[in-house]
Amino acid sequence: MSRGVVPRQPARSGRQDRVRVGRTSLTAKAVTGTKNARAGAGTVARPGRGKASEAAPKGRKKLAASNVSSAKIKGYDPLAPERVSEILRRLDQLYPEVTCALTHSSAWELLVATILSAQSTDANVNRVTPELFRKYPTVQAFAALTPEQLEPDVRSTGFFRNKSKSVVGAAKKIVADFGGQVPDDMDNLLTLPGVARKTANVVLGSWFKKAEGLVVDTHVHRISRRLELTTQNDPQKIEQDLMKIIPREKWILFSHQIIWHGRKLCIARKPKCADCTLENLCHAADKTWSTVDMHKNAKV
Ligand code: SF4
Repeated sequence: MSRGVVPRQPARSGRQDRVRVGRTSLTAKAVTGTKNARAGAGTVARPGRGKASEAAPKGRKKLAASNVSSAKIKGYDPLAPERVSEILRRLDQLYPEVTCALTHSSAWELLVATILSAQSTDANVNRVTPELFRKYPTVQAFAALTPEQLEPDVRSTGFFRNKSKSVVGAAKKIVADFGGQVPDDMDNLLTLPGVARKTANVVLGSWFKKAEGLVVDTHVHRISRRLELTTQNDPQKIEQDLMKIIPREKWILFSHQIIWHGRKLCIARKPKCADCTLENLCHAADKTWSTVDMHKNAKV
């Protein structure tokens, strides 16, 4: 965490200085954390942490999404440029120089690692790929395989039959149609077996430094919904929504930042909201601690 960014913590008393539950404290004008969190007077909602929340003292609200749909809240626009800019600013503070967590030393290695990362963790993929690339050091070496030959090497990443087919198929096409070089444009990347926009955006952004779109993986999907940056569920539609509100020069970094945020704090089951610097900008329905209203639609 960068210096100067102090994670918010729940007060031991269960009270947050002068924050009121039951009103939306964020408006398009008031997007800065401190001012916003300090507006108004009242008590703070407590975490929904199993027995602890059940044992909340009388008179204190349990943490639960209010029946509030953000569209109905007067003056609240989750896509207001000021709000989006503030989210980006705080992400820059939290994750100033994050990059792709998949180990690679070429566009081909990154492509393979990204295909293998589907339904798996980056750590798991990083355990497999060093030996894989030692055994098959070039795209031509992969192209000479059958999918069945590759299966034992990638088995531990899950869905290994499909992944083997995709990797060998992509290698054969790259050798046959692209002179052994991974193409550096979206249209040609999308012709490779097993490559959809997410994989193409990873390779274009992280290796070729081309911002053709945003990577929408499970973290970006979840957090974009929680932050109400989209109401869509389809990754392509989420990407289109994000492309409209995130400045193009931020597309590559934003994807990495959100992916890191999803790993570190905004995890799927119990997000660490009390440690999150986006907390008072976030109205997610499944927050575990909140100083602002929670919106029932702000969830995956
Ligand atoms: S406040 Fe909680 S739900 Fe919202 S972005 Fe932070 S960790 Fe995620």
